Amino acid sequence: MRASEAKSADFVGKRVTVRGWVHRLRKQKENAFVLLRDDRGAVIQCVVAAEAAAPLTIESSVEVTGTVSQDPRAPEGGFELKAGELKIYNVAAEYPIGEYQSDELLLDKRHLALRTRRMIAIAKVRASVLQYGRQWFVENGWMEVTAPTIVKGAVEGGSTLFKLRYFDQDAYLSQSAQLYLEAMIFSLGPVWSLTPSFRAEKSRTVRHLAEFSHLEAEAPWVTLEDILKAEEQLVSYVIQNTIKTRAEELALIKRDVTDLKKVEPPFDRIPYSRAIETLRSRGLQVTQDDGEKREIQFGDDLSIDTERELTKDADRPVFVVGYPLAVKPFYVKEDPAAPGIGLTADMLAPRGFGEVTSGGLREDSIDSITERMKKEGLNPGAYGWYLDLRRYGSVPHGGFGLGIERLVRWITNAEDIKDTVLFPRTMSRVEP
Ligand code: ATP
Ligand code: MG
Repeated sequence: MRASEAKSADFVGKRVTVRGWVHRLRKQKENAFVLLRDDRGAVIQCVVAAEAAAPLTIESSVEVTGTVSQDPRAPEGGFELKAGELKIYNVAAEYPIGEYQSDELLLDKRHLALRTRRMIAIAKVRASVLQYGRQWFVENGWMEVTAPTIVKGAVEGGSTLFKLRYFDQDAYLSQSAQLYLEAMIFSLGPVWSLTPSFRAEKSRTVRHLAEFSHLEAEAPWVTLEDILKAEEQLVSYVIQNTIKTRAEELALIKRDVTDLKKVEPPFDRIPYSRAIETLRSRGLQVTQDDGEKREIQFGDDLSIDTERELTKDADRPVFVVGYPLAVKPFYVKEDPAAPGIGLTADMLAPRGFGEVTSGGLREDSIDSITERMKKEGLNPGAYGWYLDLRRYGSVPHGGFGLGIERLVRWITNAEDIKDTVLFPRTMSRVEP
């Protein structure tokens, strides 16, 4: 059985067998104290004869049969396995990861660092985020689909595209499934997908990965408000269920969830123009491409610094609504009531975590969208099938994309987004 099961009053006095790995080891004259970690990361102290335990090293794989006893001195819950018989599966070579390690070494040895309790805890939180995300869509009548990740066209702009040789032609790794989801709404209604997205992010930040898990949704006949409602419900549902299910793991990584408990709809909606005014009134500076600083102004995109400034005192996310079209991709629908402004919104997580979702309505007129493509220097000819969606029964529609790692980072309070994924991909890392 697992260590987590054995640590129960029901088994006190009974003999049980637990399998796992040597997490910590203390050898004494007669006995050895093995802190055994099971395959889900729970630990139990096992007392075995020193002689039998002599070959043991950290991370050796073992099976211990012993009597469960309750001893308040035993670490992690006051249960231990006594007078254990020990079967050794593998005596581990000298383990390269000790208690205090540089972040770089932990990344180099990520295949082993996955066994640390912090990584295990975060991985479990992530599993719950995925589980409840799926559950929300299922309960609310959205259909799950998948889109290809090898594609011909750019969604988010050419500068972050990964190019690859696809037989005898060029292709790219997908930056977003959105264009495909847009094709699906005509016959499947509201759809959602969870697929990897790839972006050649050239700057090192604590919130960008080169490969991330992208939760995306798209639906026909919706308004911007419908989309924002879906986003705030989804995010609240995921957070409330995750903090309940993963209370133990969040406690282990010392995440106080008081603020997360307050994440309930509705989230504030701040017009982009007001966000800029607020930032200007606080004298916020932005760095231009040439390195010069100047005051932020209408028309600037929001950077992580500006997002932090807007959300540092908030406990709940906010939607920044109505960005200028110029800072958003070609498919964003223009607000008929406000020329130059997109019917679009980004959800910013509180306390500086920044953008977690981006969503809005899509331009559905063939003329307007080809115009916009040309303005952005894109060749409409390269988007043949996508433009067909505006030719054959176009409807008002919209959707959103959520970065799973961004959400997990916020929930776990992880400093770096790399901690939220088991095998991170960044500009400087494709291994392990
Ligand atoms: P940012 O401005 O932070 O780079 P973006 O505007 O490029 O984000 P979108 O193209 O709108 O992001 O993608 C939708 C969502 O995907 C984002 O809200 C974010 O949660 C997530 N996301 C985008 N790029 C990355 C990345 N490189 N690593 C992890 N998550 C990402
Ligand atoms: Mg980006």
